[in-house]
Amino acid sequence: MKKGLSFIIVTVLFLSTCLFFVSIKSNNENNSDKIKIVATLFPQYDFAKQIGGDKVEVSLLLTPGTETHTYEPTPQDIIRINNSDLFVYTGKYMEPWSERIAMSIDSNTKILDASKNINLIKSDHDEDEHEDSEAHEEDVDEHEEEQHHEHEHVHEFDPHIWLNPQNAVQMVKNITEELCKISPENAEYFNNNANNYIKQIEELDSEAENIIKESGKNKVAFGGAFAYAYFIDRYKLEYVSAYDSCGEDTEPSVANVKKVIDYMNQNSLKVIFYQELSSGRIADSIAKETNSKKLVFHTVHNASQDEINRGETYVSLMRKNIENLKEALK
Ligand SMILES: [Zn+2]
Repeated sequence: MKKGLSFIIVTVLFLSTCLFFVSIKSNNENNSDKIKIVATLFPQYDFAKQIGGDKVEVSLLLTPGTETHTYEPTPQDIIRINNSDLFVYTGKYMEPWSERIAMSIDSNTKILDASKNINLIKSDHDEDEHEDSEAHEEDVDEHEEEQHHEHEHVHEFDPHIWLNPQNAVQMVKNITEELCKISPENAEYFNNNANNYIKQIEELDSEAENIIKESGKNKVAFGGAFAYAYFIDRYKLEYVSAYDSCGEDTEPSVANVKKVIDYMNQNSLKVIFYQELSSGRIADSIAKETNSKKLVFHTVHNASQDEINRGETYVSLMRKNIENLKEALK
């Protein structure tokens, strides 16, 4: 009996050791010559794919439809990041957990803050009100205070840098520089791909400029979560928005909705924008009141599975935004 048991244990141990080595081998075989990149959000996912071409294998950390601002990585995500050659995140205001990750992962994984060399815009979002409402809470322990501090820190600057195409160009340059360091032998290939994509982004940028110039108008209205400060800043647009930040978890005030309606009526605006992946309910009621129509202004935080399957890119999604902007400035 005892002998039989030891035999079983030895066999099981032997088989699991084999499986372990087989799985290591297959992992290596699958990706032996490709640079493994994990990107948090769609813009850097798309940029890394465009630049890296067939030399890279890029995966998106946040699955389509995930709420991007409140996301926290799971242990599996951390393993995925740790197993990659390059981890690209937007910046600490978009992914406040990124600095913690950077300290905990393997030094073989290169980490890139894609917002490097980009001027950040201060967030409009007023935290004072929020602070007051929490001030009278009793027994705030240190941990909660710490979290509150992190929360405020998160809102200090607007994280949606990619919505200014000029920032997108800088993000492409940042990723290219990093890829060239990881694989200098492919530097020419990466630089060529990057230059081609930068050209497309720059075309998009001048298209937007021309549309605005030709329309002779510059006023737009947003009826959904607001993520567009960098776009507004780039093209010197004037705007009104029902929401003052990104996230529709709280309803906009009646006064804010009325402000949008009045602004649209005074300036004869015929389009109210809303965010993708949102019901557009507030935009619907504004559209009804102002006899206008609602159109999507894609924030490009992330793409839906459908959009990814269709092969949408940062440029193709932004081009649709610009077509809708043309409609709004008619
Ligand atoms: Zn956002």
